[in-house]
Amino acid sequence: MSFTLQPGETLGIAGESGSGKSSVARALVQLTRPTGGTVSLGGAPVTNLKGQRLKRFRRRMQMVYQDPYDSLDPRMSVSDAIGEALSVRGLPKTEHAAQVAQLLERVKLPATIAQRHPNQLSGGQRQRVSIARALAVNPEIIICDEAVAALDVSIRAQVLNLLKDIQHDTGVGYLFISHDLSTLRFMADHVAIMYVGRIVEYGTSEEVFSNPQHPYTRALIAAVPSVTRRGERRLKLSGEPPDPGNPPSGCPFHPRCPEAVETCRTERPELLTIGDAQKVACHVVQWGREKTPKTEVTA
Ligand code: SF4
Repeated sequence: MSFTLQPGETLGIAGESGSGKSSVARALVQLTRPTGGTVSLGGAPVTNLKGQRLKRFRRRMQMVYQDPYDSLDPRMSVSDAIGEALSVRGLPKTEHAAQVAQLLERVKLPATIAQRHPNQLSGGQRQRVSIARALAVNPEIIICDEAVAALDVSIRAQVLNLLKDIQHDTGVGYLFISHDLSTLRFMADHVAIMYVGRIVEYGTSEEVFSNPQHPYTRALIAAVPSVTRRGERRLKLSGEPPDPGNPPSGCPFHPRCPEAVETCRTERPELLTIGDAQKVACHVVQWGREKTPKTEVTA
């Protein structure tokens, strides 16, 4: 898969469990070493960094997880957790208290919670502290991996609005990984739909949600009534995603696809441009467009 994230932009990545969304995130921050491919930041390759260079790179790309305890040590106070990140940035300890207060204000939390521990906070407050901690190193990109999935609906909306405000003010880019298409429609400028480790549809949020083309995208969207347009062709998604280590031949979606034809069983479709920016990996869609196949994105 290949994609570009511009400063100040949000790329949403969607797909069922096991589609490879979180593996992409882990490979980007090099918590997992990718077996192939390149990650570039600001035009410079950052794959296979080690030692101090890897540490410096990780400062530029932060993660906010679904479970705040993945980034917050339950034994550390809020002040210490954020202070630890400020130390990574090289800020002297004498300046920590003022910076912690500023960061808490940035995520709309009262300064009084600085001395509390994570178990003394609500779920929404913990996630705001995780965001403050990520912001403490002035990252260029924040990867939000199901970051609001565990929050109540009203709290989720507040945190999403907060993330938008932060992006507006700082120009940080978000890679927003979510199985919730309503969240992605609200947050993302561009959307990539993943299936078994590959992008099967990519486009602007408007293109993908208003005019989904890939049968898998249409089935995902059809499962969310609030995202479905009236009169849209509805497809029901049946069966389970395949084992990523042993995907079906041809188009990996063919065992579940109601539109599959013989070619789908033997030939893997490439991700090709079918609109202004919209790209789809589906033989039937591409034939319908009567386009000469042209590879735009390499896997
Ligand atoms: Fe379905 Fe065939 Fe398109 Fe794959 S290539 S999504 S199996 S129609």
